[in-house]
Amino acid sequence: MGDAVIRIVSSEFIKGATKSDSYPKTGKAEFAFFGRSNAGKSSLINTLVNRKSLVKTGSRPGMTRVINFFLVNGEFTLADLPGYGYAQRSAAENEAFDRMLAEYASNRSELKTLFFLMDMRREPGQVELDSIEYFERLNIEVIVVGTKADKLSKNEIANARRKWAAYLNRDPSLICVTSSSKNTGRDELLKLIGERL
Ligand code: GDP
Repeated sequence: MGDAVIRIVSSEFIKGATKSDSYPKTGKAEFAFFGRSNAGKSSLINTLVNRKSLVKTGSRPGMTRVINFFLVNGEFTLADLPGYGYAQRSAAENEAFDRMLAEYASNRSELKTLFFLMDMRREPGQVELDSIEYFERLNIEVIVVGTKADKLSKNEIANARRKWAAYLNRDPSLICVTSSSKNTGRDELLKLIGERL
């Protein structure tokens, strides 16, 4: 695909699944989206594919317990992984969540890249560090994506980027800055996807 920004012509929901034997068998490159609940994941996926509500936003905490798969341009898939950090989850639910995520990360051969979303206003924490390390140990490419940049000034964005980069031990330039309400970073993400097709 080179470095052209791909144009989105179609997007559709395929199915939701919790176990690897029920993942859709697509044989196409897959891009996963993961982050703390409320990080802006649903909004960002909708922005990427130019749809208002392909993915339901602001859904009730704890409700999304499946991995939702979407086909884009008939060419690649997006996997919407459930968010972490719901205070209301029971220990059993947390365990099921971890198991589902581990099963996906270790079994999904179509997975090319995981976009790790974080609200740019938040401080980085151990959970973020641990989960990114976990995916990378499985040889999954992790791209860190800061969300809701419209809530920050230019200076604050630069500071947040530097802080996250230092904490996560990567170059600040590798942290994508996005805002779903302003469409910021959309082309950059589409370009990253295009380069991996
Ligand atoms: P998810 O739980 O990670 O899927 O997050 P959602 O996409 O449902 O968004 C959570 C909340 O953040 C909602 O109230 C959204 O309207 C808001 N939100 C999401 N993206 C943005 C953004 O780019 N800018 C701003 N200001 N708010 C956003």
